Amino acid sequence: MIIWGSRGREIEQRSGQFHCPQCDNEQEYRLYRVATYFTLYFIPLFETEHHGNYVKCGGCRGQYKPEVLDYKPPSAAERMILSVRADLESGTPVEMTRTKLVNAGLQENTADEVVALAAGDDRLRCAACNLSFVRSVPRCAACGGGLSGG
Ligand SMILES: [Zn+2]
Ligand SMILES: [Zn+2]
Repeated sequence: MIIWGSRGREIEQRSGQFHCPQCDNEQEYRLYRVATYFTLYFIPLFETEHHGNYVKCGGCRGQYKPEVLDYKPPSAAERMILSVRADLESGTPVEMTRTKLVNAGLQENTADEVVALAAGDDRLRCAACNLSFVRSVPRCAACGGGLSGG
C-alpha cells in the first residue's frame, strides 16, 4: 500500500540582517516559506499550495510580512529633523528651538540648517514677541496672542 498525503511545512528560504521595527535596531532574520506539500510515505515530494512567506526576528521572535525587509530606518539626520519638527509643532518658537539646539552642542550654522529644514517656509509670527512658529501652532507660546502669517 502506498501512503500519500499532504502536510504543511515552513522552509527557511534565507537569512540575514534587517531592521526590526519591534527591536528598533539591526537583528538577524530568517525568511520562511509556508506551504502545503504532497507527501509520499510522509516525505514531502512537491509543493501543492503556497500560503505565503514571513520573516522572523532573531531578537524578539516577532513575525512580519516579507516587506519588512525593505524598510529603511530613518538616518540620524532624519531622526533629528523629525524630533525638531515635533518640538516646533508642540508650540516651541522657532527661535527657541534653535537656541536649544545650539545649547545642546550643535554648531550655529548647523542649527540654522536643521531648523530651516524642520520648520520650512510656512511660518506664523507673533509681532508682539518677535517670535515665529510653524503653521500648526494656534497661538504664541510666550504671550498667548494670535499669530499672523508672513
Ligand atoms: Zn525584533
Ligand atoms: Zn507673543
